[in-house]
Amino acid sequence: MTAAAAPPGTRSAAVIGAGLGGLATAMRLQAAGIDTVLIEACETPGGRAGAEQRDGFTFASGPAALSDRAMLDELWALAGTTVGHDVALHPVSPLCRHSWPDGATFDLHADDADTTREIARFAPRDLAGYEEFARLASATLADFRTRPGPEPFTSLRAMTGALPQLGRAQAWRSLGSLVAAHVKDERLREVLAVPALIDGADPWAASALAAAEHARMRGGGLWWPEGGFAALARALLARFEQLGGTVRLGDAVLRIHTLGNRVSEVETQSGWRVRVGALVSTADRDHTWRDLLGGTPRGADMAARLRRRGHAPGLFTVHFALEGTWPGIPHRMVLFGPRFRALIEDITVHGVLPQDQMIWLSHPSLTDPTLAPPGKSVFQAQVPVANLAKLPIDWEAIGPLLERRVVDEVGRRLVPDIHDRLIASFHVTPRDLALQFNAARGTGYGLAVQPLWRGWAGHPLRDKVIGNLYFSGAAAAPGGGLPGALASAKIVAQAIAEGNE
Ligand SMILES: Cc1cc2nc3c(=O)[nH]c(=O)nc-3n(C[C@H](O)[C@H](O)[C@H](O)COP(=O)(O)OP(=O)(O)OC[C@H]3O[C@@H](n4cnc5c(N)ncnc54)[C@H](O)[C@@H]3O)c2cc1C
Repeated sequence: MTAAAAPPGTRSAAVIGAGLGGLATAMRLQAAGIDTVLIEACETPGGRAGAEQRDGFTFASGPAALSDRAMLDELWALAGTTVGHDVALHPVSPLCRHSWPDGATFDLHADDADTTREIARFAPRDLAGYEEFARLASATLADFRTRPGPEPFTSLRAMTGALPQLGRAQAWRSLGSLVAAHVKDERLREVLAVPALIDGADPWAASALAAAEHARMRGGGLWWPEGGFAALARALLARFEQLGGTVRLGDAVLRIHTLGNRVSEVETQSGWRVRVGALVSTADRDHTWRDLLGGTPRGADMAARLRRRGHAPGLFTVHFALEGTWPGIPHRMVLFGPRFRALIEDITVHGVLPQDQMIWLSHPSLTDPTLAPPGKSVFQAQVPVANLAKLPIDWEAIGPLLERRVVDEVGRRLVPDIHDRLIASFHVTPRDLALQFNAARGTGYGLAVQPLWRGWAGHPLRDKVIGNLYFSGAAAAPGGGLPGALASAKIVAQAIAEGNE
């Protein structure tokens, strides 16, 4: 099929992947006047933040809530409207309930007075230390809200320029160590460290810069889009098209063609080809280098390098629907097990599937009753597990056993007659993520976050050799979770718009 091309004189770009990272990138490029085509392998947008409709329920996959509402406001402002015009955003309150096997709980709130009261009840001797931690987290967020240039922490020059802010944030140490230096109560330490893991990073490998997420949540709240993130993705797609962008769904990119050290064309499974001025991949990095650019010397070299790199944890998700409504179970919970740091080491270092687990439980039908028929509820329970490289087990065999264990544990802690109330349940394993989204090693988040001294993010947004090849979304710095994916979309689109390709 002949190559499509932008009219002469027009700048053009292609974005691979219509997850939220890809949608945000495409939207920003198109709004900047760059003729953009968004190419997605699946038939629907949303990527890892999707949804499945079954028996009148919407089972939302991916994140339980979004902390960076301002990013959505910015995206809709590009289309000259507000996000609320397309999708209702509901606040999540409390931000999170943390629960331990002995029945203890700690609620984190957006409201300062509520959180102070909760700390005074839970760990009174840590009140001053927590306040200092929260102050530092806010300062870090303010310092790094907008980052300079496309490669913020991956070039020596950019890193040197940011030294004062990095020093203020104590960025050389890990989040785990920063938390431990401020609070003494082991359980409060778990509360302050776990958001990094939910965003895909080991709290003892992630820089203390990750504390900014605490401030973002506390300062801006957490939000749930009505209908789930899949509805948000559909709305973004419609706005992108309205701005003049082109969408190709259900047509995977098969090959990226280069001419010298530049991307020249993108070819899809159907044989369609498009010439591009700049290319942004939000697909998995390994997949991009190994499968899409594997025929080029740079692609083969990078694929070999990535084989030696660590990947973020895998995720095992159980979706279930229950008879009845549960106003006492908040939208978002962490059900800690008996171990925390040792459990994380089992997942990120040793690669075993332990007997105990940590469950991130979300109950979105509490905030958004449109997800379930009246009088019924829908839940999602995520369990971080070792990725497929560390734990190459037969998920077909293990999946049903782990699903049963997760449902039993939720029953033991929250819904004693859960098996009598269960209307439907199913699970998604790391292997499913690998097959469905080309996610290397079945990771929920892409490459592992590295300590600052090894190149904090380590996933440059622009390739050093192929000058018009960019990465954004979870495949890029600052990586992993949704806030990072939306942040890199902004940085990359800005770099391309400023003509840095
Ligand atoms: C179960 C689960 C729970 C999560 N929970 C949280 C959370 O609580 N908080 C949080 O912040 N983050 C969470 N995340 C991570 C979050 O979902 C991701 O950071 C975010 O959705 C990434 O968006 P993205 O667009 O960068 O990538 P993706 O959503 O992975 O999108 C990439 C897209 O590229 C497409 N693609 C791949 N290969 C090709 C190809 N060859 N051609 C065309 N298209 C291709 C894929 O189909 C996919 O749609 C979770 C992820 C999972 C899986």
